[in-house]
Amino acid sequence: MQGLGSTAPKQRLEADAAPQEPPFDCTEFVAETLLPTVSGKYRLRGYRHTFDGGRTYTEPSCIITGRPEGLENVPVRVHDACFTSEVLGSLKCDCAGQLQMAMGYIQEKSPGVIIYLQQEGRGIGLANKIAAYALQEEGLDTVDANRALGLPDDCREYSSVRNILSDLDIKSIRLMTNNPRKIQVLEELGVDVRGRIPCIVESQELNVGYLATKQARMQHWLSESDTDSLDGSFCYWNHDGEPLLPSAAQGGKSSGNGRLISRAD
Ligand SMILES: [Zn+2]
Repeated sequence: MQGLGSTAPKQRLEADAAPQEPPFDCTEFVAETLLPTVSGKYRLRGYRHTFDGGRTYTEPSCIITGRPEGLENVPVRVHDACFTSEVLGSLKCDCAGQLQMAMGYIQEKSPGVIIYLQQEGRGIGLANKIAAYALQEEGLDTVDANRALGLPDDCREYSSVRNILSDLDIKSIRLMTNNPRKIQVLEELGVDVRGRIPCIVESQELNVGYLATKQARMQHWLSESDTDSLDGSFCYWNHDGEPLLPSAAQGGKSSGNGRLISRAD
């Protein structure tokens, strides 16, 4: 464990004894600051996390509006880092747009939380992601490129999310996601997911293929109905969330009210 400043608040969050989780994982709170941004002010909390008994660390952070501590049904986005879109402005994926949507949402619907994880490329890391992009230039889609490199489709790890929510004493959440695997994994870790808030940004020429692959091969919920096509015409942000219905868990979407709220651009 790296040393912490002597004045830094410090709290170790030991994992609960759920059978499927990796051993010795822990998430350590380091510090909180108030960060002014172009989207408004956010509480920013820094953590250190290990899920392999201390051999490696990541540094999850938590972006917060208001005081979600002790509350239920808190809007939470679990967001994985994407250097290429968030820093470089890549048009190959929708990550930066999803982050901006989530930041805007929790400003509007405070309190809310974004847990930002260093899991580039669905967990394979930046260099592997670049290698996968190189294969995609030869015609492979995002799933087949990973497989050609001998890498998993998705190896993200979310025990830090459970630990951070526990640190904040958040009782239950409504998850901002289009990804059914993320809901399943969090529930298996013991997170009480009470609903889902769709997080869909408008597709455009360069990422429409990537989004179509996410929908077809990774069961992401990216359109209002199974018959919708990814032609760039859809874009919504459901500010009410929606209950997790069995049909949604199977890849369909429940009908809801007032989906077309705002556009990503
Ligand atoms: Zn991305």
